[in-house]
Amino acid sequence: MGGGTTLDAQALRRRLIGTRHGSDDGPVLLVLSALHGNEPSGVNASLRVLNSLDRRHTPCRGRLVMLLGNVSAFDARARFIDEDLNRIWLPERVAAHERGDTHPDTVENNEMRELLAAIRACAGSDGGRYLLDLHTTSAPSPPFIALAGDNRARRVADRVGAIEVRGICEFLPGMMVNFASSFGWTALAFEAGSHRDSSSEDTHEALIWHALETAGIIDRAAVPAFVRARERELRRPEHIEPAVQVIHHHPIDPDDRFRMRLGYRNFQPVKRGEVLADDRNGPIESPHDGRVFMPLYQPDGRDGFFIVRDLYANAREDAA
Ligand SMILES: [Zn+2]
Repeated sequence: MGGGTTLDAQALRRRLIGTRHGSDDGPVLLVLSALHGNEPSGVNASLRVLNSLDRRHTPCRGRLVMLLGNVSAFDARARFIDEDLNRIWLPERVAAHERGDTHPDTVENNEMRELLAAIRACAGSDGGRYLLDLHTTSAPSPPFIALAGDNRARRVADRVGAIEVRGICEFLPGMMVNFASSFGWTALAFEAGSHRDSSSEDTHEALIWHALETAGIIDRAAVPAFVRARERELRRPEHIEPAVQVIHHHPIDPDDRFRMRLGYRNFQPVKRGEVLADDRNGPIESPHDGRVFMPLYQPDGRDGFFIVRDLYANAREDAA
């Protein structure tokens, strides 16, 4: 490990939401919130879990570490300051930090350097390493996982009834979970619902409890009754397949003056040729039949929208 990834105590303190320590040799669960600074839901959910663990004196094995992702953007209540912190975890950027190279000189590159050191510092145990990256969306949405590291990650997501979105890592190679998976973490990017939906926080909290149990940090009996009851109630919206595949990405540049047409919900069905947005060159049509995914309804962001297809529909077409 190079000098660029040394973590000083002050750098850790400014992003630490809380930690609970059972034993050195057990599993590790790292919960990352507000990698986008305008998404506080995961932070509040983390605090609720910590309070509950304390109140009920729940015994823990291994380690639970809860961190703020983009501290600077969180303080500014902005998605990011200079660049999107969930788009820069590229192998060459990680390698530059390992060498102690601090370029480019952006707020997020510094956040990345500190986070990298924090993640390395948590990775000491070989009792299983889990990373949750908690997000919310600008459009109304049912919960979904943007990437499943492996089947263990998928099982956690299933408990909260999340739709699995496959193939997004190929369109967005700089996502944090891509980096974490490649370094041996069972990593899960989780979108709980819209920024404004009060249930997003409950969904994030439920996911954290399920991850604590799946990782083996707490026993099943320690999962609060309301979370287990919710698990039984949860059903996926019947019109949506449990897994979808990303088939199109519309990246944008700030100069494009991109404007999504109003009223699209995440996973809403769209037709080929349907006008989804406008920019300085005119209307933008969907190039495929499918569902619109992550339509952009906030000022910052470089992804206008994606188109996904139900995996079931894919299989039908392949067979035809
Ligand atoms: Zn986000």
